[in-house]
Amino acid sequence: MQINVTQLLKEPIGSRHSYHIDENIGANDIKSIKGDVTLTRTKSGIMVKCEITALVAGICSRCLKPIDCEVSYSFEEESLPSITISEDLSLHGQFDNLTIDESQTLDLTEAIQQYALLTMPVKPLCHPDCAGICPSCGQDLNKYPCQCPSRSHDQRWSKLISLGKESKT
Ligand SMILES: [Zn+2]
Ligand SMILES: [Zn+2]
Repeated sequence: MQINVTQLLKEPIGSRHSYHIDENIGANDIKSIKGDVTLTRTKSGIMVKCEITALVAGICSRCLKPIDCEVSYSFEEESLPSITISEDLSLHGQFDNLTIDESQTLDLTEAIQQYALLTMPVKPLCHPDCAGICPSCGQDLNKYPCQCPSRSHDQRWSKLISLGKESKT
């Protein structure tokens, strides 16, 4: 996800270039990334707009099975050249997430990966109806029900209820 922007930086404000991304990553739990990137020349740099669908490796929060999570997200950030032509150096550093280096290459890898991990659900599920693991015997209840007395579930609830009482006082 490195784009040479030499040409775009020479173009007038408002010029626009679009790119299609389809890459296998295999790093930081991110398996693949697909989507569209639009770069628009702004006064001081380039506005980057990404619309991405990523496949991220995760673990089902109920049965702990490894799963692939598909996450879709879009973001927009301005990127400034690391060598600024403008005298206003105070602007520099605000957008250090997305910088254009000396060879005028814009590297989107970091930003796209960070947003993918941020968009990951906190509790991913292998299936919306995943039955999870029995808290008493560890049986994967998606395969077959365990023999534990259902009483164990009641105990869990009573614990929660007493916790609720404690937090109120
Ligand atoms: Zn599951
Ligand atoms: Zn059980």
